[in-house]
Amino acid sequence: MEKDKIILVLNCGSSSLKYDVIKMPSRESLGKGIVERIGNEKGILEQKVKGQKYKIEEKIEDHKKALELVIKAITDKDTGIVKNISEINGIGHRVVHGGDKYASSVIIDDTVIKAIEECIDIAPLHNPPNLTGIRVAKELMPNLPQVAVFDTAFHQTMPPHAFLYGIPRKMYEDYKIRRYGFHGTSHRYVSARALEICKRDVSNTNIITCHLGNGASITAIEKGKSIDTSMGFTPLEGLMMGTRSGSLDPAILGYLMNKGMSIEEVMNILNKKSGLLGLSGISNDMRDVEAAAEAGNKDAKEALDIFTYRIKRYIGSYCAALDKVDILVFTGGIGENGWESREAICKGLENLGIMINYEVNKGIRSKETIISHPYSPVTILVVPTNEELQIAIDVYDLAFGA
Ligand code: AMP
Repeated sequence: MEKDKIILVLNCGSSSLKYDVIKMPSRESLGKGIVERIGNEKGILEQKVKGQKYKIEEKIEDHKKALELVIKAITDKDTGIVKNISEINGIGHRVVHGGDKYASSVIIDDTVIKAIEECIDIAPLHNPPNLTGIRVAKELMPNLPQVAVFDTAFHQTMPPHAFLYGIPRKMYEDYKIRRYGFHGTSHRYVSARALEICKRDVSNTNIITCHLGNGASITAIEKGKSIDTSMGFTPLEGLMMGTRSGSLDPAILGYLMNKGMSIEEVMNILNKKSGLLGLSGISNDMRDVEAAAEAGNKDAKEALDIFTYRIKRYIGSYCAALDKVDILVFTGGIGENGWESREAICKGLENLGIMINYEVNKGIRSKETIISHPYSPVTILVVPTNEELQIAIDVYDLAFGA
């Protein structure tokens, strides 16, 4: 019989630390929490266990202090998750960039840490806090197996014709400029769930997964392998997002710089002031933009149309990249909850075999559901993503698997 293991999943950002305590193999989340404003005057930890809330507000100098508070919170005798920290059997870390070194999750050792360090150059905002989380966890819980789960790993199966850009080969050789793709853990999780829900065999199933949240990406998956994805060298490429522009003519950068903008200003606009926010002038949040469009705001309506149009175009191009499509999955905050977006995206794709059931789709929020017509050649699904669970599954398989 399989033995129960309790996995602590950590996702470290520059000033935050999200955690989830998951029991395996039953896949049950025992409780989760978030530490925010690390390094600020007043930090905050909030934990939820079976509806019960636990909160700490105090100065949290650094990630070490944050993890110490997490350990305190999860072992709290009244509102904690476990009685003693020794009940935790393994730790899983979300790591954004594994470069082209890792095509799957790995048990962390010195070589892995070095490889994550080497990727700092191409992921300067994300890999340093991820590494801090690993170091601090090793210091505070030195005897536990620790696993790195990379956002980029799932996309390492892309062929060169999908991952190389049309620029001199030397730029790939010297600077490793290529498409890496992100959100890989989410695309992997929802595509695996889609196979289970549709009771289909991976060896004869192709899937397009749409992760639509504040960040958004689409992946074409052939027989379980990512063969193309919309995010590129960085998470800026591809779909239009909450504040990110997505793909645009690279000549625009040079043009704006010739007009006197610095590269920092241009990049700040493309990453933080574009997308739904930049086009609507209202918000990066889909719900706000939808409400404004509903109230008659033309810019908001146009922002929604552009968001939808880009996704349609990607779905069309991935239908061409895959020799057939069996399943289309919607996930992420918008994909899971925004039935209006799902309807607008699928409308007009009937000639690609994508036939949404308008009645069923309406109102579906965060629930695994088939939203296509029974006679639709492509099965359309809503699958809430669960990257934390996928990380726990990987820790369980790698550290405790047969
Ligand atoms: P995420 O980054 O995955 O957390 O997704 C955040 C996005 O999901 C935001 O743009 C939200 O407005 C959007 N979202 C959340 N709930 C809804 C909803 N009920 N309808 C439409 N969009 C939603």
